[in-house]
Amino acid sequence: MMADALRIGVYVCHCGTNIAGVLDTADLARFASGLPHVHVARDYKYMCSEPGQELIRQDIREYGLNRIVVAACSPHLHEATFRKVLQEAGLNPYLLAIANIREHVAWITADRESGQKRARAQIAAAVGRVARQRPLEPSSYPVTPRVLVVGGGIAGIQAALTLADAGKEVILVEREPTIGGHMAKFDKTFPTLDCAACILTPKMSAVKEHPRIRLLTYSEVESVQGSAGRFKVKVRRRPRYIREDLCVGCLQCIEACVFKALKIPNEFDLGLAKRKPIYLPFPQAVPPVPVIDPQTCLRLRTGKCKQTCVEACADRQAIDFEQQEWIEEYEVGAIIIATGFRTFDPTPLAYYGYGRFPEVYTALEVERLLNASGPSGGEIVLRDGATPRVVGIVHCVGSRDHNYHPYCSRVCCMYALKLAHLIRERCGAEVYNFYIDIRAPGKAFEEFYERTQKEGVHFVRGKVGEVERLSTNGDGLRLMVTVEDSLLGRVRKIPVDMLILAVALEPAEGAEQVRQLFHISCSSEGFFLEKHPKLAPVNTASDGVFIAGACQGPKDIPDTVAQADAAAAQALALIDRGVVEAEPNIAWVDENVCSGCRVCVSLCPFDAITPDEEKQVAVIDPTLCKGCGTCVAACPSGAAHQDLFSTEEILAELEGILAQ
Ligand SMILES: Cc1cc2nc3c(=O)[nH]c(=O)nc-3n(C[C@H](O)[C@H](O)[C@H](O)COP(=O)(O)OP(=O)(O)OC[C@H]3O[C@@H](n4cnc5c(N)ncnc54)[C@H](O)[C@@H]3O)c2cc1C
Repeated sequence: MMADALRIGVYVCHCGTNIAGVLDTADLARFASGLPHVHVARDYKYMCSEPGQELIRQDIREYGLNRIVVAACSPHLHEATFRKVLQEAGLNPYLLAIANIREHVAWITADRESGQKRARAQIAAAVGRVARQRPLEPSSYPVTPRVLVVGGGIAGIQAALTLADAGKEVILVEREPTIGGHMAKFDKTFPTLDCAACILTPKMSAVKEHPRIRLLTYSEVESVQGSAGRFKVKVRRRPRYIREDLCVGCLQCIEACVFKALKIPNEFDLGLAKRKPIYLPFPQAVPPVPVIDPQTCLRLRTGKCKQTCVEACADRQAIDFEQQEWIEEYEVGAIIIATGFRTFDPTPLAYYGYGRFPEVYTALEVERLLNASGPSGGEIVLRDGATPRVVGIVHCVGSRDHNYHPYCSRVCCMYALKLAHLIRERCGAEVYNFYIDIRAPGKAFEEFYERTQKEGVHFVRGKVGEVERLSTNGDGLRLMVTVEDSLLGRVRKIPVDMLILAVALEPAEGAEQVRQLFHISCSSEGFFLEKHPKLAPVNTASDGVFIAGACQGPKDIPDTVAQADAAAAQALALIDRGVVEAEPNIAWVDENVCSGCRVCVSLCPFDAITPDEEKQVAVIDPTLCKGCGTCVAACPSGAAHQDLFSTEEILAELEGILAQ
């Protein structure tokens, strides 16, 4: 386009007082109106609102504007909104530039004068670059109508069932031998005291039986390629040494195993019970197919074993010691990540005595004790079989603690109250809660707190400073808890038999690898980051990848289920659209300049570049390229280019900034 045919409109947003409270927006509009090719410049209270959008549409039509600059918030928030405005007014949507004067200036500026200068520079830079931008045409492609769900806790289960019931195919990948996640470990759930198994196990079997769900347990996603609408995923499947297609779950192989001494800690029971080398994590596991642990199985370790398990399975011949790891490949249109959390290990907080004193437990361990199919059949007993007479529960272990996790784990107060209620119900013990303050903001939570108070549960407001082990001879209690009671204003010593630590929720093991695999971001604590905390709470920065449940942050089961359904709805919306428009601002290679050096091939984080052996040039697959610009920056011969980030555009942007 000829330079004098340029007609640029500049729109400065007040964003309420977010921008206008710090910057003089009228001055910025006046300044913009003096920049080259600027035909109209205006400021308005909320540019993203309907009247703000209409202002831009009207100006485009009335003044024949052919480039637009919006000086407002981050393009992450409203670039798509304003591109749509251009399109509605008949302009190519890629003739837009955003000057981020909210996050990059107003929100981080203490000094108004220097802020005003920086905002002017940002606007001048955007005007400079938009003048060089060219219209781009997005290509569109069909969406694969299948969804990958990663993680088979209550979040993954709920999302998978919602999608499958809506007629979509689902691949559900769970790394453990069974689905169910943490909820499968609980006996009852707060605040309603529903039996966890009664609400979870029917859903687990519905997953297994659903004709549209392919359940891959004991498996992990190995690689992900592609973009929203057409991802290619490789799943690594670990050998159970028992064929799922032949096993009927009779469990006779476990009975028959010669390994009689139960010495191996059962991971599902957190080591409170033992298992054989061939085992089912818990009786209601889904799929109900045992696993053989290669570390402890005599046949797999030494080759020397009578193999009585094979004899017991002679009819089905499901045991297969030759099984190896294998890879399965799937094409999916959308991905939901639901990899949950892990609990904080309190061992470093030595003053609580966890790992030193057998009477000190984590809350999750006590959940297993309380569970009817757990190691003690639901009885509250200590490791030596004795019933505790007095139990202490310490709140906020690892949470709200700047040495570990500064955040509140949201569910600990409530699960501590639940444990207090259940312990009193099961063994009649006196229960002391040592708390900082009780956080019970959910539906019916406060009522549950009151109920436990009426049931005689004691509450001591204060931090536990020390736990000592007393002599276990005679009838005395076993531990002495020293706590500074901040309501009474004095240090108290309270003897107990059992101490339970209400541990924090933290990102699941391997969360960082999952983050890298799916190209999503995480918060400073390591929980996965939503695209926008209010407007896009289940979307991520990677289009087509959604998050649900405690992998996004600590939350209870009702919130997890609601979020899982929200993620399923977003995945459905993407799939049912049928086609996806690909971002056209991707990289391309000028074959006449490319020397075929292959520097870009190894650097591309999306495996989008392959060498063409015949022509000796690099070829970029436009369906895999995400426009990150790595190859453009690295190319030694300047053969790699990217629309919307051309050298000309970037230099014009720099000129705009430096001229101020
Ligand atoms: C002690 C305790 C008691 C609680 N009691 C209650 C209660 O009574 N009521 C209540 O509402 N909430 C309670 N909660 C909170 C509840 O546990 C969570 O809300 C819920 O478990 C979150 O579900 P999720 O599916 O997001 O995560 P999880 O339950 O953690 O499930 C995640 C699943 O993903 C799998 N996974 C992880 N990484 C991968 C990977 N890379 N690939 C494949 N699979 C992977 C895991 O193996 C797991 O199966 C309690 C929490 C604790 C710690």
